[in-house]
Amino acid sequence: MHTVTTPRVGTIEAIESKVRAGERLSFEDGVALFRHPDVIAVGQLANAVRERVHGDRTYFNRNMRIEVTNVCVASCLFCSFAKLEEGAPGAHTMSHEEAWQELRARLDDPPSEIHIVNGLHPGLPFAYYEELLAGFKRIKPDVHMKCFTAVEIHFFARHYGMTYGEVLERLRRAGLDSMPGGGAEIFHPEVRARISHDKATADEYLDVHRVAHGMGMRTNCTMLYGHIETFEHRVDHLLRLRALQDETGVDGGGFQAFIPLAFHPDGNGMRNLPAPTAIDALRTVAVSRLLLDNIPHIKAYWVSMTPEVAQIALRFGADDLDGTIVHETIYRAAGSRSPSGLTVDGLVRLIQEAGRVPVERDTLYNVVREHARAALPESALKVRDRNAKKHLEVMS
Ligand code: SF4
Repeated sequence: MHTVTTPRVGTIEAIESKVRAGERLSFEDGVALFRHPDVIAVGQLANAVRERVHGDRTYFNRNMRIEVTNVCVASCLFCSFAKLEEGAPGAHTMSHEEAWQELRARLDDPPSEIHIVNGLHPGLPFAYYEELLAGFKRIKPDVHMKCFTAVEIHFFARHYGMTYGEVLERLRRAGLDSMPGGGAEIFHPEVRARISHDKATADEYLDVHRVAHGMGMRTNCTMLYGHIETFEHRVDHLLRLRALQDETGVDGGGFQAFIPLAFHPDGNGMRNLPAPTAIDALRTVAVSRLLLDNIPHIKAYWVSMTPEVAQIALRFGADDLDGTIVHETIYRAAGSRSPSGLTVDGLVRLIQEAGRVPVERDTLYNVVREHARAALPESALKVRDRNAKKHLEVMS
């Protein structure tokens, strides 16, 4: 006769039973997953959830990043991008024409999305941002404007004397379609007070998203990990996002995607810390997939974790690689060795070689084109065999 044993609470077996039964994971489960010595076991569990929700489909889009100003009144310890005032070495603020030219220059292969994030500039009129959006829409009326983090929206509200709703409504009238997820960092006050004390608090960040969701706007959310936070802080952060999504994500609204962002130490106030390792990046993707049971997509943001690690993350719970991006500068300022952009062919290859099906999407996850599955095309295998033979001959 077989003895039936119940797995101990917090063990990978107990967590696996909950995941298979579709039960929600607890704070303790999240911490146990971060601490579990076998990252492959954690990854396999997350991969099972990813495949249950998305199968082999892996999303990307054609997007373009623009940072119109790096002038910022805040002083986040991890930031290598901001300059305190206009005129400081390296400070820049684009004119409208300069910003619009970035799009005009790409109209032969246009992006479907423009993603704008900036510093908190104290000297620009609100009309600058409205006209910025309106101008992009005049050039390409169907381009999706995913702009301004919750931290920026909070700053606009304080600086120009409006409510979050008024700021978002005016920006929406000018062309805003959705919001990116930046600025979340780590919510827990023990960490936030030390790394970003002078910008929107956790509650303010969440409240901006709450208001945006209430207006029917879709947004993303993030977490900056791998610096001074503990695993408990990470889990606390993820569960706060999950709680807001419980509240606002009904009927297909709310957050679309969660993006874990790896800390990069170059040129900032935490330069003495090491960057998180690839294993930490993969584990964070996996635990995020397992805890955020109500957020549809987990992005392996290739700029933050390198295209190579992002490719592996597609087997650790991630179902999205972000996009072509074209001109990323924030991570490059912090020492990222990732390229500043990828081609569509490059993204398709990364996804196909991971054994997944590449799906080009728009910002709202409508399918633009589903590519073929091609784990490794016959021709690539032939070239690989030929090259290997040549190398063997040279070495013999
Ligand atoms: S992270 Fe954002 S808010 Fe903080 S200093 Fe940099 S640009 Fe400013």
